[in-house]
Amino acid sequence: MWWQLPASELKGIGPKKAHELRKLNIETIGDILGNYPRLNSYIDYSEVKKISELTTGGERQLFAGEIVSVVEKFSQKGKRYSLIVVTDGSAFAEIYFFARQRFLTRNFAAGSKVLVTGRVKPGRTARNVTEAVLQPIGDGENIKEPGILPVYSLAGSLTQTDLRKAVRQALALAAGELPESLPAGLVAARGLPGRFEALSSIHFPESFAKLQAAKNRFVFEELFLLQCGLHYYRHHVKTDKNGVKHGRDGALVAAALEGLPFELTAMQKKAWEEISLDMQDARPMHRLLQGDVGSGKTVVSALALAKTAENGFQGCIMVPTEILAQQHYATLEEYLKPAGCRVELLTSSTRAAARKEILRGLADGAISVVVGTHSLIQNEVAFKSLALVVTDEQHRFGVEQRARLANKSNFSPDVLVMTATPIPRTLALTVYGDLDVSVMKGLPPGRKPIMTLCYTNDKRAEVYAGVLREVGKGRQAYVVCPLIEESEAVEASSASAVHQELVQGPLQGVSCALLHGRMKDVEKEKVMEGFVSGEISVLVATTVIEVGVNVPNASLMVIETADRFGLAQLHQLRGRVGRGSEQSYCVMLTDADKPEALTRLQIMRDCSDGFLLAEKDLELRGAGQLFGLRQHGLPDLRIADILQDMDVLIEARDLARRTMSDPKGAREVEAAIKYQLDDRFCRIFNL
Ligand code: ADP
Ligand code: MG
Repeated sequence: MWWQLPASELKGIGPKKAHELRKLNIETIGDILGNYPRLNSYIDYSEVKKISELTTGGERQLFAGEIVSVVEKFSQKGKRYSLIVVTDGSAFAEIYFFARQRFLTRNFAAGSKVLVTGRVKPGRTARNVTEAVLQPIGDGENIKEPGILPVYSLAGSLTQTDLRKAVRQALALAAGELPESLPAGLVAARGLPGRFEALSSIHFPESFAKLQAAKNRFVFEELFLLQCGLHYYRHHVKTDKNGVKHGRDGALVAAALEGLPFELTAMQKKAWEEISLDMQDARPMHRLLQGDVGSGKTVVSALALAKTAENGFQGCIMVPTEILAQQHYATLEEYLKPAGCRVELLTSSTRAAARKEILRGLADGAISVVVGTHSLIQNEVAFKSLALVVTDEQHRFGVEQRARLANKSNFSPDVLVMTATPIPRTLALTVYGDLDVSVMKGLPPGRKPIMTLCYTNDKRAEVYAGVLREVGKGRQAYVVCPLIEESEAVEASSASAVHQELVQGPLQGVSCALLHGRMKDVEKEKVMEGFVSGEISVLVATTVIEVGVNVPNASLMVIETADRFGLAQLHQLRGRVGRGSEQSYCVMLTDADKPEALTRLQIMRDCSDGFLLAEKDLELRGAGQLFGLRQHGLPDLRIADILQDMDVLIEARDLARRTMSDPKGAREVEAAIKYQLDDRFCRIFNL
């Protein structure tokens, strides 16, 4: 089909441009059409004014001109801002960029021609323009072209003209053949523009009304198909197999509780009650356990695993990393073994002989509980009577992987997903739909709040002197770096370079190890064991330690080039300390001056509640990227915004449920999915 052909089949797209398009995730002709213009940046050429004609009541207007100067300035209050002066011969315009907009001026220099939209106010010597969007006008580009023109995101040497030309060619192909990508009944019933009309209008709208109609259609389409995908997935897991009815808490659960070195917190008790009741129900449990980092989820899952074992069934817990699997295995053995429950560990580094033995034990039921990584979903793993499936740090697993694990059971097993990534309610609704949710807020008692500090790199020596002092008192520390090896392209500290620097300099004589994802599993294990046992005092690591690692004696974390991390990730990282009774510290080092980065670090410094941080992250980054849908095994949204389009989302959910419950409707959706311009929805449907 034409939309699957490479973009380079289009005139004007040679190998170089094809390469640059790939940076925008555009491979095929279909991708060209699926790459929507920036939604607030269309240019209406009938509206281009002379600078002298601009009205000055603060309205958004469009004008063109040549850049006279680009300068950095300070306001009277000492705030930095950038100023671009433009003239078209009729008058001058001063365009202001404040705060985070300042970096927008980087690509502009005196002498180049630009098209500007922005809010215009009067000024002393020139028009003052704010909230501006600047677009370079290429040589020979005709700005008198009539109509409303799209503005695309660009990469490399690509120009707006390149993309517009490519889109026009692709639209010509679409005019010949373009199957509908929504069930026809829905398009008619909702009065949506047809697919071709909508695609034409989103790229080259005849009017803003048509543009809006096209946008509405694609927002609906995206959310509807996403909801159909989720429905399909759930239906797929919830087969007609029977659920398992567990008995009331018995001896093994009691023994496990008895053996704990602490009392459960009120939150843990409540979560456990909810889970326990779910398990006693004949209907399969589908529960999400949300608890901030360090809130003590592992012990709750241990009780659930004990419960399934004491009922003569098997339980498994899948975790995303080898390190985490090791650690959970140790914890679960400690809690469950004394109670007479056989626990095993299965990962990619399990030796062949042991592996064979474990596979046998799982198949004949001798093993009650297995902890593992992705290895658990491999085909040769079979269970005698799997009744409970737990996934930890589940945002690392896709829907499909969870389904594969659940499908290893002869029953419809109870499913518990645990996450330390607090998912805001709105996103939970999209991703989990009808999953029940238990929330554990707060931390176990006796923890002191982590002190979070942010320093520029000129304080680095002092920071590491502090590390040395803490280590001298018997504490342990993490040093987290964004990259493994030094790369010229990115000014980020690499773990190996920092490790070398520290052992030769400030941490000379201190037992200091390196941990990163490219090391062999056995090496990683050895290092982790050393750190857990206290033999290693300082662990210089990449984000491999981000999830789940639990070493209570580690009370200090230094995050190098902290601005390179997102809020959610920083919070996860910080959660590695503050797990013991000592005062813990998290020091973020940065030389960033980008306002976005500084805002992020400031929020981190002032806020330790993961749920609050998640909401802030949502505000800062928008719903599309937050804890990306992709992390849940779903495609990112391209045009819909979960927050803004909430009402459409809810409607789409109902419609998806109705459509998918009807075999004819489901077939129609399947066909529609196949006719998408790319395969991002196919993956959910396993098409
Ligand atoms: P997370 O929710 O991040 O997975 P963990 O399960 O790793 O947290 O627990 C973090 C630490 O808290 C562990 O050292 C665990 O032993 C401890 N812990 C858990 N529950 C309690 C409790 N009720 N009282 C005291 N310490 C607890
Ligand atoms: Mg955990």
